[in-house]
Amino acid sequence: MRAYALVRSRKRRTLCLQISPSGALRVLVPTSARQADIEAFVEAKAPWIERTLKRLGEVPAPASFADGLRLRHLDELVVLRLTYRPGAPSVRRDGDVLQVAASSEEPARAALELWYRRAAHHHALARIIHFAPLVGRAPKRIRIGGQKTRWGSCSARGTISLNWRLMLVPADLFDYVIAHELCHLIAAHHRPSFWRELARVMPDYEARRLALRDIGARLSL
Ligand SMILES: [Zn+2]
Repeated sequence: MRAYALVRSRKRRTLCLQISPSGALRVLVPTSARQADIEAFVEAKAPWIERTLKRLGEVPAPASFADGLRLRHLDELVVLRLTYRPGAPSVRRDGDVLQVAASSEEPARAALELWYRRAAHHHALARIIHFAPLVGRAPKRIRIGGQKTRWGSCSARGTISLNWRLMLVPADLFDYVIAHELCHLIAAHHRPSFWRELARVMPDYEARRLALRDIGARLSL
């Protein structure tokens, strides 16, 4: 069983398990909870704990930009090989190794982001070509943005904006944002008719929406 911090509280009635972004486990229990019950509770949650810790490991934590960093690239994981050397920055993917060379951290980060932005644009185009006929609408323009708070948006003029950080989540979640924004070309709101439209092209959209919301809070690069 994994190590955890136990927090007893007089106000608690039920047992509760928390995992911090750094992967630390906390079990919150009523004062009267018995050790055997607590252990059985943690044991029962083991699959969820494993799943959550695994997902945490796949998303880069802030301030972890360093050689050896594991980065998601849609459904693949790549390892960052960082080299500092004079001259213009370069990024090259070699199998599951992403070689980034630059004079210092700042240009290295910028070059990596630019590389991800290009990849995002490329991938978005391919997926829009896939989903547009299903939705029955196509955007006028695709824009790749980098806002920390939004995965995507759709303007009244038919421009779909997508966050390049979608490259750091599983491909089916990137697809969710594409389908979602394309459906806004039919319905520019979140009323039931919009969700019906989305359900038509992506019946399991709700699970994807929740998974993406989960990741969103922790994502940064
Ligand atoms: Zn929306």
